[in-house]
Amino acid sequence: MKIGFIGVGNMGGPMCRNIVRNTNHDVTVFDLNPDAIAACTAIGAAAGASAKSVAAACDVIFTSLPMPKHVEEVALGPDGIAANARPGSVHIDLSTNSPTTARRVHAGMAAKGIGMLEAPVSGGVPRATDGTIVIMVGGDPALFEANLPVLKSFSKEVIHVGPVGMGSVAKLCNNMLAFCNAAAASEALLLGATAGIDVHKLYDVISNASGNSDAFRALGPKAFARNFKPGFALDLAHKDLRLALEMADEVGMPGMIAPQVMTLMRMARAHGMGADDSSSVLRVYEQALGREVK
Ligand code: NAD
Repeated sequence: MKIGFIGVGNMGGPMCRNIVRNTNHDVTVFDLNPDAIAACTAIGAAAGASAKSVAAACDVIFTSLPMPKHVEEVALGPDGIAANARPGSVHIDLSTNSPTTARRVHAGMAAKGIGMLEAPVSGGVPRATDGTIVIMVGGDPALFEANLPVLKSFSKEVIHVGPVGMGSVAKLCNNMLAFCNAAAASEALLLGATAGIDVHKLYDVISNASGNSDAFRALGPKAFARNFKPGFALDLAHKDLRLALEMADEVGMPGMIAPQVMTLMRMARAHGMGADDSSSVLRVYEQALGREVK
């Protein structure tokens, strides 16, 4: 089978490379960043000339792109997938979008006889790399079953969650919770540091105690090493939380905690940290206190 992969950055890159390593499919990649393409061709992928040529040549076309506007452009634009892929081919979008965007992309593909699955992922770069990333898939059940083998070639946990739109709902709920956990983890570390405990000891305690979370475990090493290179860019996390809050407004769900975390993210971005790792929310607390966690 011919697989196309458009957007091989922090997440798309390792997922694409796992398809190359774990299957016999021909994989062709395209990205605006030549270095991202080179990291895939180095292990056996072919380089496509454009999104258009990848779409026209492939049976299954993955996308892993930053913002909904990039997904809409690559999926539905004149040089994109719907306009150039063959009827009967399949578009699988691994990006994080709103349910509305996912449904719009699905409708655009359906009008051209192209199948579409929304398949947002969770687990970050480490789990995209080691093949344990979680994929939450919205779409037609038969199309899901037909594409399960290729999804399983880079994920141990592929969950069908309902029709197109529900993958995005699952992803936005998950990320809203993860960002709330990360902000709470920042607050706890700074509280401990300010109260005088050795923060490495505090980290050891909480990592094994009831306050633990994935977000807490990930935050400590980044904070102690002062390593805020993404990872998961704050700008992308801000996008996800914005989409989650929009979804909350659409369904009439009043949020209490997530809007506070949004304010923290806005402050971090105002301090110029948008391109840094999303854990930079910690540095908003640090700046307020005039001290670092270490
Ligand atoms: P990234 O910026 O590292 O990668 C995106 C890639 O898309 C870049 O290499 C960029 O050059 C490329 N690109 C942008 N526009 C393009 C276009 N028009 N044509 C071709 N290539 C284009 O971002 P990422 O962290 O890999 O995130 C990708 C998606 O996955 C986002 O939707 C993000 O929200 C989601 N996500 C990220 C993480 C994470 O931890 N980084 C985790 C889960 C989900």
